Amino acid sequence: MIDKLSFFGKLVNGNSYHLQIRRQKAGKFVRRFGWLTGLILMIVLGLGLSGCQTKTTTPAKQTGIHVVASLNFYGEAAQKILGNHGTVTTVINSPSVDPESFEPDIATAKKVAQANVVIQNGLGYDSWMQRLVTANGHSDIQVLNLGNLVGRKMGANPHLWSDPQLMTRMTRQLVRQFSRLDPQHATAFQRRGAAYEQQLRALPRLARQIKRHANNQQVAVSEPVFNLALSAMGYRVSDGHFAQAIEEDSDPTPADITQLAAQIRHHRIAFFVENTQNSSKNVTTMVNLAHKYHVPVVKVTETKPVNQSYLTWMTSQYRQVLRIQQEARSQS
Ligand SMILES: [Zn+2]
Repeated sequence: MIDKLSFFGKLVNGNSYHLQIRRQKAGKFVRRFGWLTGLILMIVLGLGLSGCQTKTTTPAKQTGIHVVASLNFYGEAAQKILGNHGTVTTVINSPSVDPESFEPDIATAKKVAQANVVIQNGLGYDSWMQRLVTANGHSDIQVLNLGNLVGRKMGANPHLWSDPQLMTRMTRQLVRQFSRLDPQHATAFQRRGAAYEQQLRALPRLARQIKRHANNQQVAVSEPVFNLALSAMGYRVSDGHFAQAIEEDSDPTPADITQLAAQIRHHRIAFFVENTQNSSKNVTTMVNLAHKYHVPVVKVTETKPVNQSYLTWMTSQYRQVLRIQQEARSQS
């Protein structure tokens, strides 16, 4: 077993060589132990089932594919595809934890060490995940980096999940990876993946419906968490500099503030998108100004709320935009 304290020590010191040796020892233990359990099970089962001896004598892989995902909605998709042919651990499960400033603990490092597939957002959003994979040093962990998958470069907007196509692309990639790792269940992965894709179609459909009436209008945002959805819906973000400052927990410039306030007062934006998880003074001022001047406010969150699925969370955000359009049309 891994000595917790020294495991932590090695990780902190960044001594990945020793960590790797320990990992291999632990891995061997787990593999041998898993194999033994499997063998014992087979013997027990074999005694009960007299008909089919030849096939059950080979120790089957009992545990399935292990996935570790940085964010819970990525883990949710992986579990939908795996069904009961694998397990998923998501590192960040609470909506109150900020993935961008998260520091992983030993338990997370251990989970990553045992993973077959690691899902990370990439683009610097969850770089702690890459550090854990690298510290682990063994090459048979497959990493799905979503930033790379969609061909975005470091510095691009990392809030990839608001893109109505992202989860579909991720699902297809996971079906391929899982099928290679466990070919016996490839048909099941494909069937489950296709079923999830079918559900996910609701998002691009909503985005297209919204785009018909967006007319390339300007909108403003408190943070860039919903920008990829907005551009798929046919809107332009007017206050990139203000939003970037809020995202980085720094102060927008006086010019940013004056400009955004004027956009609100003169109705140059169709609506204001507020990330309700950040209640900085500057954002509250803008939201109050929007209310005062009857500029609609779309409320979004950066992390998935408790008791919501990725789809219910996203569709409820998309539908707010749809409602704003419908109200605007009924008033004109
Ligand atoms: Zn963010």
